[in-house]
Amino acid sequence: MNLKAYFACSVISLAFAGLAPCSYGQEAEVSADELRLKDYRPESVFRLPEHHPHEAKYSCVDMHSHPYESDPEAIRAWAERLEANNIEKVVILTYAHGEEFDRLYDLYTGISDRFEMWCGFDMDSFGEPDFEEKAVAELVRCYEKGARGVGELGDKGLGESYCLRTESGEKIPTMHLDDPRFDALLEKCAELRMPVNIHIGDPIWMYEKMDEHNDGYMNAADWKIDLSTPGILDLYEMATTLKNACARHPNTLFIACHFVNLTHDYGYLSEIMERHPNLYLDNAARHEETAATPRATKAFYVKWQDRILFGTDNDPSQDMYDLQWRILETDDEHFYGGYAYHWPLHGLDLPDKVLRKVYHDNSLKIVKYQNGK
Ligand SMILES: [Zn+2]
Repeated sequence: MNLKAYFACSVISLAFAGLAPCSYGQEAEVSADELRLKDYRPESVFRLPEHHPHEAKYSCVDMHSHPYESDPEAIRAWAERLEANNIEKVVILTYAHGEEFDRLYDLYTGISDRFEMWCGFDMDSFGEPDFEEKAVAELVRCYEKGARGVGELGDKGLGESYCLRTESGEKIPTMHLDDPRFDALLEKCAELRMPVNIHIGDPIWMYEKMDEHNDGYMNAADWKIDLSTPGILDLYEMATTLKNACARHPNTLFIACHFVNLTHDYGYLSEIMERHPNLYLDNAARHEETAATPRATKAFYVKWQDRILFGTDNDPSQDMYDLQWRILETDDEHFYGGYAYHWPLHGLDLPDKVLRKVYHDNSLKIVKYQNGK
């Protein structure tokens, strides 16, 4: 809500006007002509049972987070929060290689063994003749330092762009995951038993026309993929690059994060899963997308209960964790409280058996892979 448009109900002015104090809420009304769509923050009118678990029902592994904290005290506090939330381990996707990876590795693992560190690819010499040789050598060095996987790679249509940045931090696109110039790296990942976490595309509403029919309009005002950018691939073309990479590297284990951003099309996502047994999904940072369609989402979880991994991705506050548990575990209906979406949320009420696998047991399959079994 545009806070400037919210005025406390002024008893003094009402007294002058001879009106009774507000009975519903304490805010002045905002006309439909004034209220901006992107400021719309509804509160549920439904008087329904609410459940607010403050820890995971079963021991849990978070397969998708980032080095959010840099201060040792804050990292220690995070480790304590993990314990309080029943999270036994967190995979920190650093994107980093070289000195930066080593620094993060030493910092996090020196504080708690709950943190498992994954590295990025060294794309610094991308486009040069010795790129593959250098990148593979650095991958091996990171592995020897202690990296147990690779991530997060990310391709939003112009090529992998999470591991190569300008000095000011802007992402530089390189090539898609199915490009032959990735072969040496992805084959080395298979040899070293390092799973690869990859972000493909973005939610469908980011690609849609900005008009009154766009279901994600309020968010698309800030987050948008510009399909007029020369050479950019759309979401389905992006999914094809993932399928090609899975087929090209059958011994490499891929974890496509955020459900490949295909939660609007579970039928197609299921087809991809059926064809590519070396592909896992993580559910990180898409709870609000999936909580909009609880029955279809629950059915998808049940169908793919052996290959969905739990992840958070967001800033590790207690509020963020609370929302995960409420959405995945409860049957609460029509509530708000997300970070980005205006859609009402619904608990998925996942069966215990499915919850245990997603929270924990599927991560053991990743450990088995890492250990070469
Ligand atoms: Zn992420």
